[in-house]
Amino acid sequence: MPQRPYIVGNWKMHGTRAMLSEARAIDRAAQRHMKVEVALAPPYTLIHPVHREAEQIGVGAQDCHHEDGGAHTGDISAAMVADAGAKFVILGHSERRQNHAESDEIVRAKAEAALSAGLRIILCCGESEETRAAGDAVAFVKEQLKASLPADHAVLTNGSANASERVTIAYEPIWAIGTGNTATVEDIAEMHGEIRALLIELFGEEEGPEIRILYGGSVKPENASQILSTAEVGGALVGGASLTADSLMGIALAA
Ligand code: PEP
Repeated sequence: MPQRPYIVGNWKMHGTRAMLSEARAIDRAAQRHMKVEVALAPPYTLIHPVHREAEQIGVGAQDCHHEDGGAHTGDISAAMVADAGAKFVILGHSERRQNHAESDEIVRAKAEAALSAGLRIILCCGESEETRAAGDAVAFVKEQLKASLPADHAVLTNGSANASERVTIAYEPIWAIGTGNTATVEDIAEMHGEIRALLIELFGEEEGPEIRILYGGSVKPENASQILSTAEVGGALVGGASLTADSLMGIALAA
């Protein structure tokens, strides 16, 4: 059965309690547009408040540590974000990979920890401008994904029937994030097609086609309809345009 388009807002390091009214407005609007699955990943400090008030939208975290606990000042475990009300976690975002030197190995360990804690994961991948200019984007993204996804199928499904219930992929070309530049529809279609082929290779003919592949990188209400109607695009991971209910739901309405 085809899944609903999935629109996920990543608030990054934006938002104090004053922004809860925006989350409430997103939740109310999502109740009126059930054809689309809407979710929000606020900063850690707002996970529980948003979870407490949200009736419709899914609430997630933007990261978690790969260990269950210990002497890691300032870090948060998968179990902790789940305890706060998160149902999913975004992992391997390029801002984490760049600003916190997260390797594929670390992202994979985080994915294993998150899945074991019962969370769904949104695993990000994407190439730099230099890699695309060199013509290596597809090979790079496929390698990055293979190295970042847990290899053990039992870990990936964690008790669910199908990996698609646990795993979502987000293709986010680094040069498109927060820049106002989006990839062309042709480039998005090519990359999503390649990612789909990889997912079928890794998960088989039954599960591979079901795993949603989101596009991320300067998605806004004005370009959402074109991007979201592209082959193999199952939704969007949205940064800047997720900060207001008007713009995030403008994207959801275009799906
Ligand atoms: C993101 O950070 O995941 C993202 C896609 O950001 P933006 O929409 O602002 O480009």
